Amino acid sequence: MNYDVIIIGAGPGGIFSAYELCLKAPGLKIAVFEAGHALNARKCPIDGDKVKSCINCKTCSVMSGFGGAGAFSDGKYNITNDFGGSLHQYIGKQRALELMHYVDGINLKFGGEGTKLYSTAGSKFKKECIQHGLHLLDASVRHLGTDINFRVLENLYAFLESRVDFHFDSPVGSVTAADGGFLISSLGKTYSCKKCIISVGRSGSKWMERICKDLEIPTHSNRVDIGVRVELPAEVFSHLTDELYESKIVYCTQKYNDYVRTFCMNPKGAVVTENTNGIITVNGHSYEDPSKHTENTNFALLVAKHFSEPFKDSNGYGESIARLSNMLGGGVIVQRFGDLVRGRRSTPARIEEGFVTPTLQATPGDLSLVLPKRILDGIIEMIYALDKIAPGTANDDTLLYGVEVKFYNVEVGVDKKLESCHEGLYIIGDGSGITHSLSHASASGIYVARNIIEGMK
Ligand SMILES: Cc1cc2nc3c(=O)[nH]c(=O)nc-3n(C[C@H](O)[C@H](O)[C@H](O)COP(=O)(O)OP(=O)(O)OC[C@H]3O[C@@H](n4cnc5c(N)ncnc54)[C@H](O)[C@@H]3O)c2cc1C
Repeated sequence: MNYDVIIIGAGPGGIFSAYELCLKAPGLKIAVFEAGHALNARKCPIDGDKVKSCINCKTCSVMSGFGGAGAFSDGKYNITNDFGGSLHQYIGKQRALELMHYVDGINLKFGGEGTKLYSTAGSKFKKECIQHGLHLLDASVRHLGTDINFRVLENLYAFLESRVDFHFDSPVGSVTAADGGFLISSLGKTYSCKKCIISVGRSGSKWMERICKDLEIPTHSNRVDIGVRVELPAEVFSHLTDELYESKIVYCTQKYNDYVRTFCMNPKGAVVTENTNGIITVNGHSYEDPSKHTENTNFALLVAKHFSEPFKDSNGYGESIARLSNMLGGGVIVQRFGDLVRGRRSTPARIEEGFVTPTLQATPGDLSLVLPKRILDGIIEMIYALDKIAPGTANDDTLLYGVEVKFYNVEVGVDKKLESCHEGLYIIGDGSGITHSLSHASASGIYVARNIIEGMK
């Protein structure tokens, strides 16, 4: 065998499993295969000047490379079982929380000390939300910020570099079971290992489905979340963001009984584009460093759709809607809330005249031509509900960027150890469809590393 353990994917899931293996079983020979670049080589070519929009690089530096999809993210580690994945359904609520706290400790040790841990515990906003039909979910959130998150990754890499064989720019083609272990092929070479951890995230979704088919690992369709990113003056939400940083609020619409929720709140942050398999969607982030703050806060409003019978392809549905917005807007579309409710498109002049300055250059247009009516009605209803706890949310100048789509991988059949039907093959993180967040993906990495060490005793 070339290696005791091969890890596929160097996102949080892969990094934290490598970290725990190195720490607790230093004698093991470990390799990490990553389709993207090393951390210092990750650079998105969009500079707003020469390159204004996505040029579809071979590997997307925003989504791939050491640090995974989270490398340039806001670094919000939510410590909760209420959202961010269903890891607790496999490993138990208590253990899931313990592991998320353990990950938090590692982040602090590797450069995150001094960052703030916010909590909804005892918050007066819970009552205020309920009084207006809104529900604030429980969580503690460590906000590292894009800058500190990157520093933590640099320090983790410095720790792992001498202990792990890193293969960057090395997408894994196939995984086959052989001789009680696994054969992994990458760039025309084959490597063997006793145990294999697959942690390929959302960018590896199509690859993951193929591997599951090849290895006859069962899968189940997952949901897709579709909506918009809202951007407004930071003052409108400051009473919430100052105390909670991020508030996950759920609203049940009166019209259709659909659930709409806030997601990924970025106080004084920036709206950014995201490229998933060539489809441009919208996201957001913010820095811890006050000198990099903007005047705006952004967050997503999302509606979940889950298709199972006869149509199963929830992601395909989300992709089609995103493609439509890409077709009409050449990328992301931006619209003033006032224009949307008056049934007219936004134009460059109307955006220019508005009091909210966009942090992302997007194409002024009409989101009602892209989003299904039911989803759009739900979003509009929630904006008016949020206006009651954060007056100003429903102002004409509030900007809506579309579309934001959260794709979830198909849920892969694994047991309580996150081990597939092939002994020694573990599937973790967002690639498994079980986690959808930094903290859950990282916790799943620690969890399988410990299971592997336990099994080797
Ligand atoms: C802009 C942005 C902001 C975000 N902000 C937050 C946030 O604030 N808080 C939060 O909780 N979550 C956030 N997320 C989501 C978070 O980043 C993910 O949940 C998390 O990164 C999942 O970790 P992972 O290790 O499972 O997968 P990933 O981070 O996606 O890593 C998987 C890695 O596997 C590699 N890979 C894929 N296929 C192969 C292959 N065949 N061979 C080799 N390597 C392969 C990929 O290149 C990638 O580097 C954000 C995501 C984005 C894009």
